[in-house]
Amino acid sequence: MTFPYKGYAGKYLEVDLTKGKTIVKDMVKEWARLYLGGTGISSKILWERTGPETEPLSPENVLVVGTGPFTGVMFSPSGRMMFASKSPLTGIWAESHSGGFFGPEMKYAGFDLIVISGRSPRPVYLFLRDGEAELRDAQHLWGRETDVTTRMIREELRDPSIETAVIGPAGERQVLYGSVIIDFYRAAGRTGLGAVMGSKNLKGIAASGSLPLEAYDMEKYLEANRQEMEKLRDPLWAESLGSLRKYGTTDLVAIINEIGRLPTKNHWTGFYEHADDIGPEIIAERYRIAQEACHGCSIGCKYIYRVRDGRFASAPAGGPEYETLMAFGSNCLNNNIESIMYLGKRCDQLGMDTISCGKSIGFAMELWEKGILDASMTGGLELTWGNIDTMVELVEQIAKREGLGEVLSLGTRRAAEKFGGDAWRYAIHVKGLEASGQDPRAHQSVGLTYATNVRGADHLRSLSSLEELGYPEIVIERFGKEKADKILDIMSPDYKGELIWDMENLYALVDSAVICKYGTMWPPVYYYETFANVLPHLTGMTEWGDVAYVRQASRRIAHLRRAYNHRLGITRKDETLPHRLLKEAMPTGPAKGGLPDLDQMLDEYYDFRGCDKKTGFPKRERLMELGLDYVAEDLEARGMIAK
Ligand code: SF4
Repeated sequence: MTFPYKGYAGKYLEVDLTKGKTIVKDMVKEWARLYLGGTGISSKILWERTGPETEPLSPENVLVVGTGPFTGVMFSPSGRMMFASKSPLTGIWAESHSGGFFGPEMKYAGFDLIVISGRSPRPVYLFLRDGEAELRDAQHLWGRETDVTTRMIREELRDPSIETAVIGPAGERQVLYGSVIIDFYRAAGRTGLGAVMGSKNLKGIAASGSLPLEAYDMEKYLEANRQEMEKLRDPLWAESLGSLRKYGTTDLVAIINEIGRLPTKNHWTGFYEHADDIGPEIIAERYRIAQEACHGCSIGCKYIYRVRDGRFASAPAGGPEYETLMAFGSNCLNNNIESIMYLGKRCDQLGMDTISCGKSIGFAMELWEKGILDASMTGGLELTWGNIDTMVELVEQIAKREGLGEVLSLGTRRAAEKFGGDAWRYAIHVKGLEASGQDPRAHQSVGLTYATNVRGADHLRSLSSLEELGYPEIVIERFGKEKADKILDIMSPDYKGELIWDMENLYALVDSAVICKYGTMWPPVYYYETFANVLPHLTGMTEWGDVAYVRQASRRIAHLRRAYNHRLGITRKDETLPHRLLKEAMPTGPAKGGLPDLDQMLDEYYDFRGCDKKTGFPKRERLMELGLDYVAEDLEARGMIAK
């Protein structure tokens, strides 16, 4: 039976790189009905095709490239796509999203998903065009940086409008946080998906399409779309959206530093006294040359900058984003903004996650300060805080996996194991993923977000901005008046279990739809009702018009990803925070003295999630009510179900 729903391209592509084969298949009706798209369908596929025995960098690992029903249909902000696999960095669930134009182009080329397995005997890239797929030789591209690769692919296919997702030398060499770069400077940065592509000898994917996407009921879809767009124009959000449009994510440097949450000196503290030097105004005034937006986005938080002269003079490039400013800036006590922009750009060209890379360097700087590393172990490099020359050199070494870079290319958890002694104290990660730019000692619910996030210490699977931005009317609407004061108190752990449980469910939906977090996370405009309003008219899946169905689907997806990790051995003992963020009170700044009350929040979270508080394992009945019978049976057979 052909795929009955609209809004989707209706086909997916199976790629067996070992055999050099591509097979076009109809999308599966039940995938869309139960898991929607993006992260939801990826979790179903990866549950079935990978597991404890799958070595992340082996041919057996599977890489899913996904879009959702919203991709490319001009719902704002929806120009996004995602990758999912088993992570070589963390050994658990891997997922990373990117904006730009590649996702919509992949759908216009005829594919909702690409499921990639095997390992090609020689470097190749995949070319998609109007329902057809071709594996092309990439030996001449191997070793090239991402910007050069993108240009070469466009030139050889004689089409400057082709969109690409490519890896750089870091992914080829399997740096464990190798990224995938979309259209020059958008990144699916986290969890090492570029290394997975490198291990498969897959240099990239190029897409060019002209196939139409249809709505089930175009008139009603456009009206529902208009209604949701109208919500974005509510004056309530004017300040948040205004700053996002004016400064992009760089504004977060100032906002987050003000509440003492900006990771500084490898998370020693959350307040950086030189934050203004790397903040929004200076970037806007001195370096910005253009504003951009991802496909179909009415917000437009992207910028192009240029450093015109001096050591770090560069051609126009995208960014810098908040996370890069944090990772190579405050995190390493580096207030030289031009060097930060240069380091971010090098990471994009080499194909590496700026967060894990900057955090690995900050970690090494602290080991140097503590005497755990010395010149005999660094090849003579001096790892003093803010040492720009060393940072520039280390980024190159990491991408080449040479010198100290070889150890740092493994991420902080593995590097700490290799260095031994007290090094583990300074490795700021959860489940092996380096922490993104939030300090939970200044924001209680961030601690729970980091601890329970399926991919590790990262904000994008459940961060709540409600208490930070302070929207009492939204909190009351979603959680009730009696809980509002405590939820709005950023330093109270009360009701944060429920809050983060709800955010995780909501973002599971957002990541399946697939849309940008802006508009849902910051500011909190879209909620479950948005999906119920739009999806039936877009897709023809009438059940998605019922908010209760939408909520249930969101929980199904969230549970499935968590179960994927349980099957790999993740329990409550892994859902914790690094020693520093859990035990060392914030030493300076506005959040001085702060510590997260993780146990209280985790207990409440497990109650809402329907999990055993001791192990974190899900209850059988909870899985059954979500239609995850096959998960319940598998976990039960492994003794990984709540008793
Ligand atoms: S808000 Fe920014 S990141 Fe999100 S889709 Fe729009 S331009 Fe892209």
